[in-house]
Amino acid sequence: MNVRDSEAMAALLLRHGYAMADSEDEADVILLNTCSIRDLAEQKALGKMSALVTEKRSKPTLRLGFVGCLAQCRGAELLQRVPGVDLVVGTQRFHHLPEYLDRLFAGEGGIVDVAEEPGSESAVRDHLAEGAVTAFVSIMQGCDMRCSFCIVPQTRGAERSRSIGEIVEEVRELAEHGVREVTLLGQIVTSYGRGLIPKKNGRSPFVQLLEALHEVRGLERIRFTSPHPKGFGDDLVAAFRDLPKLCEHAHLPAQSGSDRILKAMRRGYDRAMFLRIVERLRAAQPKMVFSSDIIVGFPGETDEDFEQTVSLMREVPFEQAYIFKYSKRRNTPAAELPGQVPTATKEERNQRLLAILNEIATRKNRELIGQTVEILVEGRSPKNAARMFGRTRTNKGVVFEGDLRHKGALLPVRVQRATALTLYGILTDEKR
Ligand code: SAH
Repeated sequence: MNVRDSEAMAALLLRHGYAMADSEDEADVILLNTCSIRDLAEQKALGKMSALVTEKRSKPTLRLGFVGCLAQCRGAELLQRVPGVDLVVGTQRFHHLPEYLDRLFAGEGGIVDVAEEPGSESAVRDHLAEGAVTAFVSIMQGCDMRCSFCIVPQTRGAERSRSIGEIVEEVRELAEHGVREVTLLGQIVTSYGRGLIPKKNGRSPFVQLLEALHEVRGLERIRFTSPHPKGFGDDLVAAFRDLPKLCEHAHLPAQSGSDRILKAMRRGYDRAMFLRIVERLRAAQPKMVFSSDIIVGFPGETDEDFEQTVSLMREVPFEQAYIFKYSKRRNTPAAELPGQVPTATKEERNQRLLAILNEIATRKNRELIGQTVEILVEGRSPKNAARMFGRTRTNKGVVFEGDLRHKGALLPVRVQRATALTLYGILTDEKR
């Protein structure tokens, strides 16, 4: 989401006559778009800004700003915390950046804006990359869930959704410029349009949006993140069967496999309910691949609780996952819970889950050796510019011998080799 927000900010500033600097050294203004989801992310941003402030001593014309979640949470406090910072702009106001930068260059300093703004969910709409094959599209902001560990409702505010028409228009434009795949973004996309758009023929607003986007010409693939597991109603499950453009990959943030911990997290489902969602999705779409977010070391998590998470990972199985060590967040209920887990234990559990994930992903990817998969070619391989890179519908990266004329094409590739993270293949003869 921050990548997408940063892109929108950059595009907006370009539109207002600013240019992207090739390096930090050349920049007249540096904005750090920040994340608050874990303490580590905040510490990184504060550390980076301190280093920039030091550089500013030898370049007094440099202007520095915090934007995003950390800015939203800490506001004016950041000016004191890191003296030398000129600008603090929160998550609902960054589309005013052109005006604020103009004011900075006119000599003003110490500007802070962390206000809420109705309608700001529609502000994330400018795109940068000409020639991109894939794009992120922000469909909503905020979250009304109250998971006990999570700071997002404080940093991103209440749920606010864009209209279906506006999103379809943005995606249509992207498709006209060569985008073949969109990933719909929101903190809780399955709640899209709740309370704003009525149900229609048993379809939730989110499924109505998927159906509308499915009609966009030139668009080949649709993905979304993050959903809430509870949001997989019968209509959404059926969409994976009925909408061919909807890719057979579901990111299902489980957080834990232990009923006791899920309850303390206030996730609203237990292990059995979670597994039933997986089963229903697999029944609708047998090729479904699952990924997840997991938190280890939530307050009170015992070895037995953790073993439940291990067994959930294997039972689904998750082929990709983001594994987080629980991080205490201010003004969240879990921060006050007894039984905070020692850092060493969190680290150990984190390592164990990573090893299991690696084992599952390697095994699953190797099962694909010899098979032909369809990939969407995104461009050159990021690691080896002599080769090309694409993704399967199940969101696995594939490296192959090809050239730039393949960019944007859907091509069949036979898998020859596989690691936990990457498939290596060869274009099959049919369409070379
Ligand atoms: N709204 C999305 C998650 C966005 S944050 C959802 O509910 O699925 C991405 C992930 O960060 C979460 O799924 C969770 O696994 C992790 N996370 C959130 N708060 C955290 C915390 N306090 N400590 C560690 N990980 C956390």
